Amino acid sequence: MQHVAPLVKLIEHFRRLPGIGPKSAARLAYHILTLDSQQAEAFAQSIIEAKTKIGYCSQCFALTDTDPCYICKGENRDRSLICVVEEPQDVAAMERTREYKGLYHVLHGALSPLDGVGPDQIRIKELLTRIRLGSVTEIILATNPDVEGEATAMYLSKLLKPLGLIVTRIGHGLPMGGELEFADEVTLSKALENRREME
Ligand SMILES: [Zn+2]
Repeated sequence: MQHVAPLVKLIEHFRRLPGIGPKSAARLAYHILTLDSQQAEAFAQSIIEAKTKIGYCSQCFALTDTDPCYICKGENRDRSLICVVEEPQDVAAMERTREYKGLYHVLHGALSPLDGVGPDQIRIKELLTRIRLGSVTEIILATNPDVEGEATAMYLSKLLKPLGLIVTRIGHGLPMGGELEFADEVTLSKALENRREME
């Protein structure tokens, strides 16, 4: 089927999104054309706004539109706790539990030597800098319960325990190979509550 040029372009953009095949891309593009101009403009504007206003928090590296983020700034946050996660969306998952009141640190990845991701490629140095500031007593390792996430937790535990910190790992009840981001609140709350000190 022949598409007019602007439509081809729109379909191409949808196709680049994760999980979107050619059929879905076409369906979404055709749907956009059914919106009235105001709705279409609001949609386009929200993409631009998200992209220009959101950046990483200079302290915890979570996504934020203020720096530091509302969590790092939060007055009733427990500054003796840092929960280490792989990706910014994991912060949102932990926050949904409403149980956790400490701070976060987003690594932006997990150790994966086969893919060339070593300690210098994720934000471990920045975590050490924060720890050196002194108010932290416990590090909760909430990396994903998969091979890379476990390897990252082991590495961090070996690095952090000699600094005199309590290093715990969440995971109890989380399905192996799963991702934190997709765990429901109850499972995640339990995993947090049942965290165990790393060996
Ligand atoms: Zn922050």
